[in-house]
Amino acid sequence: MSSEQHSASAIARARINEVRDEITRTAKIAGRAPEAVTLIAVSKTYPAEAIKPFIAAGQREFGENRVQEAQSKWPAILADHADIDLHLIGSLQSNKAEDAVTLFGTIHAVDRVSLITALAKAQDKVGRRPRCFIQVNIGDEAQKGGCGIADLAHVLQQAQSANLDIVGLMAVPPAHVEASPYFALLAKLARDNGLEELSMGMSADLEPAVMLGATYVRVGTALFGARPPI
Ligand SMILES: *Cc1c(COP(=O)(O)O)cnc(C)c1O
Repeated sequence: MSSEQHSASAIARARINEVRDEITRTAKIAGRAPEAVTLIAVSKTYPAEAIKPFIAAGQREFGENRVQEAQSKWPAILADHADIDLHLIGSLQSNKAEDAVTLFGTIHAVDRVSLITALAKAQDKVGRRPRCFIQVNIGDEAQKGGCGIADLAHVLQQAQSANLDIVGLMAVPPAHVEASPYFALLAKLARDNGLEELSMGMSADLEPAVMLGATYVRVGTALFGARPPI
């Protein structure tokens, strides 16, 4: 390793430790086991060169929000690191279902019956069965993905009978307001529907998410730095 690569991975390790410390501190306050919270490093917009120091620092869960972007950088990395779990955290078009099932171990934004049908077909064709989250439009926002709260039971039932491996619920609460009530609501919906996993919490609202039961947090900015505006 060059000294430049060494310092990049030292910075990556320090950032991971900071975020993990915050998770540990918060989990303890809530009486939860820190290991129950998996940290997904959201590497969207960052090139492979920026991701590699995080792999060298031991990070194994990564998140991307676009299938095409992920296809351009991850297959080469995964060829050397079969133990990495790649998470698709962004919305998915049905015509990309097969690509998604091929590349991602976990899909966080299953939210409608047409996508469920496409994913079921892709699973059979590709011979892989990714873990999936149902995304809930927890703040009932027109511009956001996710199924409506009133539709959740139906979407879940459809996904389960299509043989998707549904492990939990995911949501992105409304911006610029207190996130906690939305996290609490998502946790209640998961409990009511017998689902174990909760994908909630990003750089800005990690603490309330962990307090309220997040088992997967999706953190980009706090690890990689600010992204250029899109
Ligand atoms: C970008 C993104 C994140 C990470 O956001 P940060 O604020 O950078 O931590 C988490 N979840 C989703 C769905 C995202 O698109």
